[in-house]
Amino acid sequence: MRSEHLTISRHRGARCIRARVSPEGIRVTAPVRTPAAAIDLFVQTHWDHLQQTFEELSRHMRHITWEPGSQVPYLGQWYELERSCGACLRGSVGIRAEKLVVIPALGGNRSLGEQVAAWYRQQAKSHIFGRCSHYAREMGVSYEAIRVKDQSTRWGSCSSRGNLNFNWKLVTMPPFVLDYVVVHELAHRRHLNHGAEFWTLVQRHSSRVEEARAYLKSYNLVFA
Ligand SMILES: [Zn+2]
Repeated sequence: MRSEHLTISRHRGARCIRARVSPEGIRVTAPVRTPAAAIDLFVQTHWDHLQQTFEELSRHMRHITWEPGSQVPYLGQWYELERSCGACLRGSVGIRAEKLVVIPALGGNRSLGEQVAAWYRQQAKSHIFGRCSHYAREMGVSYEAIRVKDQSTRWGSCSSRGNLNFNWKLVTMPPFVLDYVVVHELAHRRHLNHGAEFWTLVQRHSSRVEEARAYLKSYNLVFA
């Protein structure tokens, strides 16, 4: 019954035994004083369901590793990661002939992964800044600052003061998905809720709303 994907922990703040399933595994948390037997019974009782949910979630998941030869996504397309060398382009990352080519900096101690991650964030910034300014004009709204962050659970957010936050992973998705998230957050400059008027505004500026929402819901890339 036990699987390598199961982790059990006790938490001071926990009121009862709970299980959470994510593509990374099954986590069971229990109050500090729960006897081990009670936790075992809980896991046994729910095991089939937990295991089934986990399998469904992880079946579609893809781990992206930063190794030469692995496939990495950019704007909805996949590229082979290649480490190259070249005197004049040291420290650069770029797309060349269907490949994402990384040329390490001279004497630099950044790993391939660190270099690609920095490039992703920089690309995310430039794409998101560009799309925000385009759609803000089209929608007749304004905003304060834009930040591109490593938010794990959100794709974007908009504060009541007009500060926009976006997840850098948007740059791995097809452009229409990135555009939808930008339009969604900018629409909050008019409506700070998800009411009917909000969605009408989003629909007016984004043509593939349902498709984009489904894409975001099933997004399953995990970067090593
Ligand atoms: Zn929203």
